[in-house]
Amino acid sequence: MRAAAQQPRQLPPPRHRRTAVLAAGLLIATAGGTAAAFTATNASAATDAAAGCTVAYTVQNQWDTGFTTQVTLTNTGPAVTSWTLGWSFAGNQKVTQGWNADIAQSAAAVTAKNLSYNGTLATGGSTNFGFNGSYSGTNASPTAFTLNGVACNGGTPTTPPTTPPTTPPTTPPTTPPTTPPPGTRVDNPYAGAKGYVNPEWSAKAAAEAGGSRIANTSTAVWLDRIAAINGVNGGMGLRAHLNKAVTQAAGQPLTIELVIYDLPGRDCAALASNGELGATELARYKAEYIDPIAAIIADPAYAALRIVTIVEPDSLPNLVTNAGGTAGSTEACATMKANGNYEAGVGYALHRLGAYSNVYNYIDAGHHGWLGWDTNLGPAAQEFLKAATTGGATVNDVAGFIVNTANYGATTEPFFKITDSVNGTSVRQSKWVDWNQYVDEQSYAQALRSLLVTTGFNSGLGMLIDTSRNGWGGAARPTGPGATTSVDTYVNGGRLDRRIHLGNWCNQSGAGIGARPTAAPAAGIDAYVWVKPPGESDGASSAIPNDEGKGFDRMCDPTYTGNGRNGNSMSGALPDSPLAGKWFSAQFQELMKNAYPAL
Ligand code: BGC
Repeated sequence: MRAAAQQPRQLPPPRHRRTAVLAAGLLIATAGGTAAAFTATNASAATDAAAGCTVAYTVQNQWDTGFTTQVTLTNTGPAVTSWTLGWSFAGNQKVTQGWNADIAQSAAAVTAKNLSYNGTLATGGSTNFGFNGSYSGTNASPTAFTLNGVACNGGTPTTPPTTPPTTPPTTPPTTPPTTPPPGTRVDNPYAGAKGYVNPEWSAKAAAEAGGSRIANTSTAVWLDRIAAINGVNGGMGLRAHLNKAVTQAAGQPLTIELVIYDLPGRDCAALASNGELGATELARYKAEYIDPIAAIIADPAYAALRIVTIVEPDSLPNLVTNAGGTAGSTEACATMKANGNYEAGVGYALHRLGAYSNVYNYIDAGHHGWLGWDTNLGPAAQEFLKAATTGGATVNDVAGFIVNTANYGATTEPFFKITDSVNGTSVRQSKWVDWNQYVDEQSYAQALRSLLVTTGFNSGLGMLIDTSRNGWGGAARPTGPGATTSVDTYVNGGRLDRRIHLGNWCNQSGAGIGARPTAAPAAGIDAYVWVKPPGESDGASSAIPNDEGKGFDRMCDPTYTGNGRNGNSMSGALPDSPLAGKWFSAQFQELMKNAYPAL
């Protein structure tokens, strides 16, 4: 693919020059209406009021013109089915963006109303929401709140407060509000756990003829833009998914996969999944994307879920192979390598999300047809280590790596292996293998795992393989090795992966559903997972105007004759495909038809 100008959608100008972690100003409105304010770097919400509500208002980040606040509302009065929290700012603060609440502002007065999924608050129940704001001068925290119009000291307390506290608490709480909830980190989060069924994907699958055969399969939730955190066009947001996951778990271990996918300058080597954030918008990535995700995950209601994060598909691999000096390089990737924002963003995501003991971060590691050459793999391991030790992250924030995300590489190739040769010629010299060190995803994942451990990652690393579309069943599936006429007849006759070229990646013709999600299927592999939801397009086959920043990549056009990166081969893409992420019925039907194991 050639370098191409990104097409980020029109966004407000960056609001922050810098995000600094400020000593969190925590304020607790207590019974009696007095506000006990104190400042501490670590503080937790009060739980001890006897009146209608307590509010912990925590400024998590503050910079010269803006701030991010997390609010925890605890209902200490009778149960409510909807809530509106009110307060007034003392200064000129303006709420610019909120999450988990519908926030409105008129002059200094602010109301935050529940959304459809978080209105119910039992006595003693808590809920969290947050917002970004702008300000100038002093950002004083509000000191009084109302719940459903009644001052937080009012409500209908069963025991009216007698002595309002007059002095700030002497011992600031030691637990930060975003502290990992209790939850024991396990070695393999998939072991003994069910998988979350995304109701939105499930409904689309079930609506297809024959789709009910797979509609109950666990697939990942893609947080592919800031708006996805609250839900796009009335769809489910993160909190709605996590609430549903709690219901599905029904007290048993359950794994839910979230794809973290919104880096600045996203998808630098292709056009189909270019994102909303420009190359320099790291501050927005942190404050408007990662921080709000972390704030939701922090809710103790989700402590028992095993939350797997798939961290930024394609980003670090692109820095290894496409950022300069090779035929496939693009200007956009060179820019991201030079500005360091992929590494800084990935490091920040690992650090912020890895702080929760029920979160398992898996970094995207491309696939064997991308990094499987020694000249790429060593540098890739170094690149992964660099990102995992940037922005506050450490290798302890990394549970493992995922390969084949949204790709089509076979998990195993049963009819030839890398050590085979034909008439004295190694299969590595075949056109298909082209000197790669691996012929399939599982051998690649296992070798990469060993390399990563020697590079400095923990020895408990586990690998994931995305098997949602790598089945390659159906009539064209080989049933034995190819003819030993030459390495090419041998490899081409026996390979399951029927792509025209290993570098093809968009809506591949002939592909089928692969292995169903499976825990611990092989040594070093934590699970086979379905990260790319089958039926969702990889990209549009022709240019389609959109407001998501997505471009038109000719690798998705079936008439395209290719470029240096796919050996100047045909793209192998299905015709008439919609934008990346949109439902593609014809592909879904073909994937089911070619499923292996068959459905
Ligand atoms: C798209 C995302 C989508 C994801 C899953 C990516 O290629 O860019 O918008 O959510 O695929 O289908």
